[in-house]
Amino acid sequence: MKGLNTVVAGTLSYLPKWFARPFANPYVAGESFSEAAQVVRGLNHRGFKATLDILGEHVTSIEEAHAVRDAYAMLFRDIEAEKLDTGVSLKLTHLGLALDRALVEENVLALGDAAKKTGNFLRIDMENSPYTTATLDIFQRCLGRYNRVGTVLQAYLRRTLDDIEALGSPNLNVRICKGIYREPVEIAFQDPEKIRENYFAAVQAVIQSGGFVAVATHDLSLITQVETWFENASIPPDRFEFQVLYGVPMQGKLEALRDKGFTVRIYVPFGAAWFDYSIRRLQENPHILGYVLKNMFTSRT
Ligand SMILES: Cc1cc2nc3c(=O)[nH]c(=O)nc-3n(C[C@H](O)[C@H](O)[C@H](O)COP(=O)(O)OP(=O)(O)OC[C@H]3O[C@@H](n4cnc5c(N)ncnc54)[C@H](O)[C@@H]3O)c2cc1C
Repeated sequence: MKGLNTVVAGTLSYLPKWFARPFANPYVAGESFSEAAQVVRGLNHRGFKATLDILGEHVTSIEEAHAVRDAYAMLFRDIEAEKLDTGVSLKLTHLGLALDRALVEENVLALGDAAKKTGNFLRIDMENSPYTTATLDIFQRCLGRYNRVGTVLQAYLRRTLDDIEALGSPNLNVRICKGIYREPVEIAFQDPEKIRENYFAAVQAVIQSGGFVAVATHDLSLITQVETWFENASIPPDRFEFQVLYGVPMQGKLEALRDKGFTVRIYVPFGAAWFDYSIRRLQENPHILGYVLKNMFTSRT
């Protein structure tokens, strides 16, 4: 199956957008803010929070990086105007990290200011390993100025528990995910069971450091393991939340978590770059194609 997924993922980029659209549709909230706002409104109505992401990464010019910064600044204003219950997630290569470190810092700090002005929350997504250290450094600079900012750590990376220890502070707000990129064995666990073990250990470490943890996974047994630990250890619900990607079927688990009074947040990507983004994700991780096909036959969030 893995070999077949790789071949199909490689071929998709040569196919027209109309063909790829049905594959991306369930996971992307449209191209415009108004389409995304409609999705967020629906989620809010059902008692879920959201985090909005403008699709894209790896800009290739300074002008493009500035345009992305301006689009995010506008997004903060639009969220406030529309009174949506949603934060914002962004990728640093979308703001120029692969081009120029000073440029990206300036852009992120400007967006930290925009988030502060509108009373919103900014989360810096984690990309592949060449960017891990720079992302954490920039995150810490933001945290020095503004405390409603968070980042992401990946349970497959061997360094993650050390990173939590190094970051450790009561202001720490970390989303823990398994990690979506392909990383070499020298730096990343490959065994799914080991990744799950490290995931659970990372969640516990963030809580023990005094921080807030966002548990981002669709792995139902892992969610139950973490949820049981939160309950048995009497961790107050304002110290954690659960997060999933828009469109992934969760078999009623999100409603059950919500009904227990836990915060559930849905990551809602939108934007014109949906095609390039979907193809890149598929090529980086052909397993996703298997998920997409499986999910087409299962009920959705
Ligand atoms: C809110 C959120 C934010 C994330 N942010 C980042 C980030 O900043 N950096 C990063 O590297 N990774 C990020 N990820 C992706 C994450 O690292 C994993 O690659 C992804 O969630 C799959 O792992 P899993 O924990 O869901 O478990 P898995 O065992 O991989 O998946 C469990 C089941 O969930 C379903 N599923 C999982 N992923 C998908 C998908 N993409 N499409 C359709 N169905 C799927 C499948 O049915 C699968 O069987 C994020 C994930 C979430 C939920």
